[in-house]
Amino acid sequence: MRSRFATLLTFLIGAAAVCVAAANAPVQTAPPPVATLADKALSERVVDYQIDARFDATKHALDGTEVLTYRNLTGQPQDTFPFHLYLNAFKPTSTFMREERRDHSDFEWKDKYKASAEVKSLDVVGMGDLSSQIKFIAPDDGNSDDRTVFQVKLPRAIAPGESVQFRIVFHDQFGQVFARTGYKRDFIMGAQWFPKVGVWWQGAWNCHQFHANTEFFADFGTFDVKLTVPQNEVVGASGVQVDEVKNADGTKTLTFRGEDIHDFAWTAQPTYHVVEDTFLGSMGPVKIRLLLQPGHMDQAGRHLHIMQETLKRFDQWYGPYPYKQITVVDPADLRAGGMEYPTLFTGDTTWWMPEGLHFTEIVVEHEFGHQYWYGMVATNEFEDAWLDEGINSYTECKILDDIFGQDKSLMDLWGLTESDDASERNGYIAAADLDPMSRFAYQYINGSSYGGITYGKTATVLLTLEKVIGEETLRRALHTYFLRYRFTHPTQEDFLKTVEEVSGQSLRWYFDQAVYGTQVLDYEIRRANSDRLDWYLKDPPKEKKGETVYRTQVQVHRKGDFVFPVDVVIKFDNGESVTEHWDGKDRWVRYTYDKKAKLVSAELDPGTAVRLDRNFFNNSYVEQGDTRARWKIVSYWTWITQMLSQCLAWLA
Ligand SMILES: [Zn+2]
Repeated sequence: MRSRFATLLTFLIGAAAVCVAAANAPVQTAPPPVATLADKALSERVVDYQIDARFDATKHALDGTEVLTYRNLTGQPQDTFPFHLYLNAFKPTSTFMREERRDHSDFEWKDKYKASAEVKSLDVVGMGDLSSQIKFIAPDDGNSDDRTVFQVKLPRAIAPGESVQFRIVFHDQFGQVFARTGYKRDFIMGAQWFPKVGVWWQGAWNCHQFHANTEFFADFGTFDVKLTVPQNEVVGASGVQVDEVKNADGTKTLTFRGEDIHDFAWTAQPTYHVVEDTFLGSMGPVKIRLLLQPGHMDQAGRHLHIMQETLKRFDQWYGPYPYKQITVVDPADLRAGGMEYPTLFTGDTTWWMPEGLHFTEIVVEHEFGHQYWYGMVATNEFEDAWLDEGINSYTECKILDDIFGQDKSLMDLWGLTESDDASERNGYIAAADLDPMSRFAYQYINGSSYGGITYGKTATVLLTLEKVIGEETLRRALHTYFLRYRFTHPTQEDFLKTVEEVSGQSLRWYFDQAVYGTQVLDYEIRRANSDRLDWYLKDPPKEKKGETVYRTQVQVHRKGDFVFPVDVVIKFDNGESVTEHWDGKDRWVRYTYDKKAKLVSAELDPGTAVRLDRNFFNNSYVEQGDTRARWKIVSYWTWITQMLSQCLAWLA
């Protein structure tokens, strides 16, 4: 997820709205042609959902029947099955809303946010009506008012290898969009809308409640979804559309098929503009289907351009995108924006977004990136959120740097530039020591820490890792990780071991601090000076360049508790430069030189490759006034962008 950038920028830039250059793009409004499905299964298909749903656009309500066939591949008999009912989070007594209020004491509940999902009946083929066996559970916090997870106990166990078929009749009432799902005027985002079975993972059912700071986890399989909506609706959905039937009552029934995906989302709005394009990847053509708000037509080109450039790099660097379609939704409400679903995601833009501000592109790149880490690798976002959001934030930096140039990936506007990795780093700095990356997402101290660590710190940890193993090696490790673990729900150790294997290095010293620890990295030049060696003479000779001998000392101090090797470059006024490599383990180190030259500067980590260093301002000592002035200007701009990025981090 990557959201509310635009909201923030509206606040920051206010009246300084500027005209957006018109982009040229082919415009089509014809219904999507049928795309071809994959030739063979990509995943071990555990679930098969067949859902028949009718959406009432006036009441923002949906009646559905879901037939779920679950293959018991758990290796043991199963008689109890947990299900998510995510829409029930939108009630004031839910765990989600309690956490929202806990983190934001000014958060006010509004009845328009209220939503619900109700199971009308639940049958199991061969076992009859088990509606009475439904029991709500709260495995994470015991909140008896939370209705986001229920379980059903069957009268007999399902043997290993056997399948069980559930038939669930349900009713959804959507609320006005508060987070990700819901309506706004005639726009609807149908996300987390059907009863979804939990995942048997690591020897147990994994079916967490819906929390304010958690995303999702589900099993792979197939989805055949029939959506009945008013005929004037323009619809986008996961998978590909395979059929459309116009009904006599003014509705139409659209059928979608999704294969080797683990969730299904859809959206509808009568006024969507549809723009289509094709990406030619290593596994054949991929249809890009873009649904734009009516006022955003001049941004079609920006969306398609960043999609093409992003798809190309993912294909080349990390692996192929094997699906036949990707649907990009520009939502009517930004609270539904910047969110990923399999083969469909929502962007986040506004009509005034200047081309030099790359937020439109960042959100599109970021959400597409989720197709890999969330969509295909599909790690557990409740427990190992950094494996998705964090790796995705790192690849976001790499890809945007490659497209826009390293220093301009976030913005290149009115002569001011900023990189995406600086923005990620600022997110980390804002919450550096509160929570380890490895903490379960809902156990972070608050949403700011979750955002700062899961996105910002992870990206910064991986950028810093480039200094240890090399950028190219890390790219190869991600490529190996993706190809090896796609469609399998790997753990954080699977990722870390892959990096160690590909790099041929033991990296525990780093991962123990960076991933499992809360140590903070901060090295400083504590003191640096040159002093005449003959300082003690009563009547010393006049100082003469190239003849007077000076003793120069440079003290480097490890201020933080994170140990990391650092380079120090010391420059002298005779043009000489010395590079020291310190293992960084002790609390400080002193370098001493006796030379016929004075110190000009001492700089830690030139080029700021150690992105995890919390404070770059104490990394250098510069003797000369002119250079200091330059640093000061750099510092002001860095400070401004840090403030901006921190705001972004709080909202992301
Ligand atoms: Zn994300």
